[in-house]
Amino acid sequence: MKKAFEREAFFDWVSQTLRPRALELQIRAGVFNRAVSAIEFLPSVLERQANQKEFSLSIWEYLDIAASDERARNGRQMLRRYRDLLNRVELAYGVEPEVITAIWGLETGYGVVRGDVPTLSALATLAFRGRRARYFEDELLAAIRIVQARGCNPGDLVGSWAGALGHGQFMPSSVINFAVDFDADGRHDICGDDPTDALASIANYLHKHGWKKGQPWGFEVRLPNGFDYALSGTDQTLTSRDWAAMGVTGADGGPIPDYGPGSVLLPAGAGGLALLVLRNYHVITRYNRSEAYAIGIGHLSDRILGSRPFSGTWPVSEPMLGQKEIGEAQCLLTRAGFDTKGVDGMRGANTARAVRAWQRAHGAVPDGYLSAALLARLRADEGGQRPDS
Ligand code: CA
Repeated sequence: MKKAFEREAFFDWVSQTLRPRALELQIRAGVFNRAVSAIEFLPSVLERQANQKEFSLSIWEYLDIAASDERARNGRQMLRRYRDLLNRVELAYGVEPEVITAIWGLETGYGVVRGDVPTLSALATLAFRGRRARYFEDELLAAIRIVQARGCNPGDLVGSWAGALGHGQFMPSSVINFAVDFDADGRHDICGDDPTDALASIANYLHKHGWKKGQPWGFEVRLPNGFDYALSGTDQTLTSRDWAAMGVTGADGGPIPDYGPGSVLLPAGAGGLALLVLRNYHVITRYNRSEAYAIGIGHLSDRILGSRPFSGTWPVSEPMLGQKEIGEAQCLLTRAGFDTKGVDGMRGANTARAVRAWQRAHGAVPDGYLSAALLARLRADEGGQRPDS
């Protein structure tokens, strides 16, 4: 019974919310009807959304998978196999081959896992019942626009559970805005077995978001004793010279190269290793806004070129907060007067800033890191303040 009711509500939403928006976007009624008749509600997609590994693993567990020896080795192999293509793509878009390869490797295992979930159904399910519903509603409409523009069957679009398509897992709006026809055969084919258009499209995406050729995404650094942790976080940027003057060095203790302004990022707080991230780090976050993802891409691209794993250590014995707990901490911080600018269950610059302010107010090391200990403290404070009545 419950299932039948959900279905009914689903199709009410399609006719009352989705259809008017589609028609406004010049999607023809016939195309819309064909698209909707192909849509099925997929509860498994909602389960997948609740268990994304960028958000449920610790940063060190995530990097072990994202930039594993095997993925780096496969990346080197792909770099060799597609060297000529990647060089031409670099010439056209100014993005280094190993970076394009790293995104390809992390998104789909170098094209092996492009996904077989019907895209319209996945997006409709997320738009109807998922987190970030409005975002997925926009992507669903973009997917229907692709069906209309290509004159293809709605069922031809298949990809990830989140509606991402092809070798680089582009969302439909990115397909419309950034996919390119690099082999000039008249089709923007980012999904087929031949990765030519897809790899060029990844490069075009980074290029359009401001990729700076010749610069790394960032690198590991060593912080001096007595480092002022209040200066950490991606919302605070200083020049290499400023960081060097404070005693920040490369991971090997040598001087840090000057690539212009950067931020000290502490993915696991003061107890873990430190990175100096540059402009290109932020460009990667435009591809996927998870901090772990951006570090994963950067690190994998280095490892594909033969770099060793990070040399610093992680606080592996500390419990890591999951998405739900981060959301809870964001609520508690905001209620306590340290505004996280929303509750999304993700570690972002706004949350780090609120945590730093809380830490300063409570005499703790202001590294901006939301730890399990900090959540426990927030819970205790909240309990203490709650009126009994
Ligand atoms: Ca093409």
